Amino acid sequence: MKLLITLLLPIILISCNCSESQKTEWALALHGGAGNMNKSSFSKENITEYEKALEEALLIGEKMLSEGHDAMDVVEKVVRNLEDNPLFNAGKGAVFTNDGRNELDAAIMDGRDLNAGAVAGVGDIRNPISAARLIMEKSPHVLLVGKGASKYCAENGIVTVDSSYFYTEKKWQSLQRALQKAGKNGTVGCVALDKSGSLAAATSTGGMTNKRYGRVGDVPIIGAGTYANNNTCAVSATGHGEYYIRYTVAHDISALMEHKNLTLQQAAEKVINGKLSNEAGNGGIIAVDKNGNIVLEMNSTGMFRAWANADGEKGVAIFNDDDK
Ligand code: ASP
Repeated sequence: MKLLITLLLPIILISCNCSESQKTEWALALHGGAGNMNKSSFSKENITEYEKALEEALLIGEKMLSEGHDAMDVVEKVVRNLEDNPLFNAGKGAVFTNDGRNELDAAIMDGRDLNAGAVAGVGDIRNPISAARLIMEKSPHVLLVGKGASKYCAENGIVTVDSSYFYTEKKWQSLQRALQKAGKNGTVGCVALDKSGSLAAATSTGGMTNKRYGRVGDVPIIGAGTYANNNTCAVSATGHGEYYIRYTVAHDISALMEHKNLTLQQAAEKVINGKLSNEAGNGGIIAVDKNGNIVLEMNSTGMFRAWANADGEKGVAIFNDDDK
């Protein structure tokens, strides 16, 4: 028997998809939104600016994970950095609602115990991802909205700002354009596997340009735009939120792994390029599984994204025909 196993083992190893099961010490992926982006409408400087921003956020996460920090701390810190960058549609660069306000959504989830926190429709919190974490850790609730969320967060030491903080000329002009035609996508997110084997996911957004005020997207809905479970994977989504809610995208990917034994890559493809692409659910996801396999799946022409792992594999990409 022992001889048979010795003889068969190389054959078994060659026929399995080894890259799906290889264990890396830590892994990280982040996104800065997806959509149907036309390469020719980006200048070289534009592209460099986005790449630099993604790289900066990636370095924060890489450093923390290699030093042994907790995945929850990593995803929060990385998303805070992206929220502070006006290039992205989250925090400082949040888009405007149809009546010219900013209503921000964010969620964070801990794969260890499925604990989660989220905030929706807030217009005066500088870093909504930290508000989401506060709600998860300090309150008995998962999701707080609007004024109630702001009040609770302010009382518990979260930094609030005047609504004028979120005014950026670029996003204001994009509302003016969107008032004439369809809205535009954009969001930030991060997923991480840390050295202790814990997974975490965080997502933050201003929502969709020209959304009706009061509208809440998929991002703060646990299982739609954000999900983490140490038994399967961590997922952060970006795209047309209404579809991500209807298809409970992030949880569906995890469920396909858990119940159907699909790999993360197979599950993500099935949901993003199967179920969703048959609808108008334009966008993508970033995800990492419990073995550190990173998947960046989209059904749009672009997704701002970056990834790294403990084995030194890393990169930054924007368009769907870029590597990874
Ligand atoms: N999913 C976000 C929302 O619908 C938008 C985006 O990711 O671009 O609010």
